[in-house]
Amino acid sequence: MEISDIITHLGENREEYYNSVSPPIMQSSNFCFKTVDEMRQCLQKEFEHPFYSRGYNPTVGILRKKLAALEHTEDSLVFASGSAAIAAAVMNEVQQGDHVICIKSPYSWTNYLLNTLLAKYGVTTTMIDGTKVENFEAAIQENTKLIFLETPNSMTFELQDLEAVSKLAKSKNITTICDNSYSTPLCQNPADYGIDITVHSASKYLSGHSDLVAGVLCASKKRVENIMANEFMTLGGIIGPFEAWLILRGLRTLPIRLKTVLENSMKVLDFLEKHPKIEKVVFPFSEKNPQYELAKKQMKPCGGLMTIYLKTDDIKKIETFSNSLNYFLLACSWGGYESLQFPIATLHDSKSYHKTPHPANMIRLYIGLEDPHLLINDLKQALEKIK
Ligand SMILES: *Cc1c(COP(=O)(O)O)cnc(C)c1O
Repeated sequence: MEISDIITHLGENREEYYNSVSPPIMQSSNFCFKTVDEMRQCLQKEFEHPFYSRGYNPTVGILRKKLAALEHTEDSLVFASGSAAIAAAVMNEVQQGDHVICIKSPYSWTNYLLNTLLAKYGVTTTMIDGTKVENFEAAIQENTKLIFLETPNSMTFELQDLEAVSKLAKSKNITTICDNSYSTPLCQNPADYGIDITVHSASKYLSGHSDLVAGVLCASKKRVENIMANEFMTLGGIIGPFEAWLILRGLRTLPIRLKTVLENSMKVLDFLEKHPKIEKVVFPFSEKNPQYELAKKQMKPCGGLMTIYLKTDDIKKIETFSNSLNYFLLACSWGGYESLQFPIATLHDSKSYHKTPHPANMIRLYIGLEDPHLLINDLKQALEKIK
């Protein structure tokens, strides 16, 4: 099915709601029935039919169909956050005594889930450099049940070879999960390489306007049913109909937003890579990226995230640069209209779970949808302030 058909038509039975062009927000927690027998019948299929909105809600149902089709999987689930989706996917796969292999710099709360929360329940995790398939092979133990991937990750953008890791995992009967938030389903489909479960933070590109927090899980019908009947219904981290509708609205412009973000990013990249005050720029689709060939093999060019290393260790100068930027708002997250900056210096001196091995001259930029000339001029004047 064409992307446009999925985004505009799939799941939208308009004749059921006055032929409205935009889908309805079914803001109801529960749905009623004419007879006891009808209620009994519907209770039996409460995961796929309106009964109670923790299980199935018609607005969320439209979104689930589209997301599954975009990710080339049979079904999908939508959660209150990306972290909720990741936790449900992981917890469905492991039990006490099981072992997980995870790439070494995943999203911070994925790290916390595996190494702190699940460690409490007797699950162990080995963190590895995922750029080499041999490292996965070497880390496999008798009790390894799960391999967790994030390619590229959202801070340093290391990639994993989806095809090779998936093949290895299948030969050992190990489940694979891939966090695909960076690429979105338009630029990478892990399921095409045999990855079992694909997860997303929908708070980023999928919704696309920095106005909600949500998560997505895509997998086979069998897996989705199992996760739904267990973690999803029990932990109950569901999305509300209004947020689901905002994602439906965001999806309508996802292709055009991603296109502009990439065009802007390539222009900014070109400027930054040549600038004498920048030590290094990391971006998956930079020709300087050592994993450029792998990126081209398994992803379509995409992304507005890039990390720069300033050519100074002086924290005052680094802060002057960041404080001088006008268009790059100082904020976490990414995927909306606004360009953003996340200086790693904000994680230093922190006593909490946010401890980082990354140096203070590292700043993650998100290139948004503003005119790229404004962004380049903004970076130029801020770099000139580093004296
Ligand atoms: C933001 C993010 C998450 C977490 O998603 P939330 O919606 O914030 O819970 C997970 N993985 C990646 C790569 C992210 O960028």
